[in-house]
Amino acid sequence: MPTTLVLLDRALRLDDNPTLNAARHAGQPLIVLVDTPARPPWLARHLPMNMASNQPALARTRAWQALAADLARFNVPVWQMGLASAEQWQALIEQSDANQIFAPAHADPDQQRLLASLSIASVCCGDNHLLSRQQHQTLPAKLLGRFTPFYHAVKHWPTQSLEASPQYWVQAAMGQADAATLIDAETKVLSSVKLPVTPEETEEWLERYLWQQQAVLHYKSTRNDLMGDYSSSRLSAALAMGTFSVRRLNEHLQRFEHSMQSNASTAALRYEWYWREYFQWLGGRLGDTLYQAPVPVLTEEQQDRLHRWCKAQSGVAIVDAAMTELQQTGFLSNRARQLAASCLVHDLAVPWQYGAAWFEHNLIDFDPNSNTGNWAYIAGGNAVSNKPHAFDLNWQAERYDANSQYRRFWLS
Ligand SMILES: Cc1cc2nc3c(=O)[nH]c(=O)nc-3n(C[C@H](O)[C@H](O)[C@H](O)COP(=O)(O)OP(=O)(O)OC[C@H]3O[C@@H](n4cnc5c(N)ncnc54)[C@H](O)[C@@H]3O)c2cc1C
Repeated sequence: MPTTLVLLDRALRLDDNPTLNAARHAGQPLIVLVDTPARPPWLARHLPMNMASNQPALARTRAWQALAADLARFNVPVWQMGLASAEQWQALIEQSDANQIFAPAHADPDQQRLLASLSIASVCCGDNHLLSRQQHQTLPAKLLGRFTPFYHAVKHWPTQSLEASPQYWVQAAMGQADAATLIDAETKVLSSVKLPVTPEETEEWLERYLWQQQAVLHYKSTRNDLMGDYSSSRLSAALAMGTFSVRRLNEHLQRFEHSMQSNASTAALRYEWYWREYFQWLGGRLGDTLYQAPVPVLTEEQQDRLHRWCKAQSGVAIVDAAMTELQQTGFLSNRARQLAASCLVHDLAVPWQYGAAWFEHNLIDFDPNSNTGNWAYIAGGNAVSNKPHAFDLNWQAERYDANSQYRRFWLS
């Protein structure tokens, strides 16, 4: 059987994984793990990178190790390359005698360009979406221009069914017992982050969040809170890295709704998954266009304001609290992200792309499409939104941190 290379960019799981299954049908899979390059990399030169959070790297290592351990159970080999160049890919193709590369659709555009430049065919498979590529292709382009018409068009469409279960891999892995696993099992991982990252952590979290605490029943009224372990679902990292499938999450939520309760909050959580879906497909259509328009060069003053914002020294307490939380935990609530972004773009007058780059280097749940989409939406004047969305930070602080608990917690 020929070897098939499988790039699991943002699809780091065995369960419900169309890319893995397609590769397995075509040959003996060799899983390739690579770091995704920053988009665009030069923006990082303007950021205080020595202050960036170490949490994303720790979480990614945790996700890679969990996947490598799962694959090892089925004797499926893993090759880890870090930031891979075309030459490294080419060397791997020759060494493994592979005849095809499989990758999830909507892998990073740079990654896709690189794969397309190699000497063997690359195949893109649907991945972590509720709706299929075919369903999206039937949507008129104008519906992808704004979320609300998109949502009303698709909300009653059937979601994609789940792919085969992991047991499938038992057969897939037969006859590969001596394949080498190249993951470094000694890498140290801190487990200080609360966000579930691996499939196992996500299953445990769902057990607590859904079934024990039944916190989803008050999601609608708590999702904007700045603090609180159960205020929102905390599933973004698992979804962004693809350690958990959104279709599997939907199955969990449906089971909860059928056996416990379905209310406006359970519907509100699913509604947010459609925001994610929307940005994934919008990102797929826009590709790099939001970055191809020249990013404005910073004046010295803007550069200074950008650094102070990154270092939690903007002088706006609610934003500085958020930037401290981001640096220490690699996570922020949606409301805190909106306030931090609005401050940088509308109060400090720094182009949104620089803020998006800082989030990229600090968020555990960094997702190119959700991050770019949300930043561009707040900034306005672009293909995502004509209208700027500016927040009154004093009003927001009064509304969402009336007793200053959040500011005191992160700033003292
Ligand atoms: C400036 C800015 C940057 C952002 N960058 C990212 C990012 O890099 N990665 C990311 O996953 N989300 C991003 N978001 C969206 C959102 O803030 C996070 O998904 C959410 O805070 C994660 O916490 P949660 O899982 O508890 O969310 P919940 O409120 O429980 O939402 C459930 C899920 O729905 C999805 N979702 C919710 N809100 C949004 C949204 N506005 N856009 C897209 N998907 C959404 C996420 O997958 C999330 O896990 C960003 C938002 C802003 C304003």
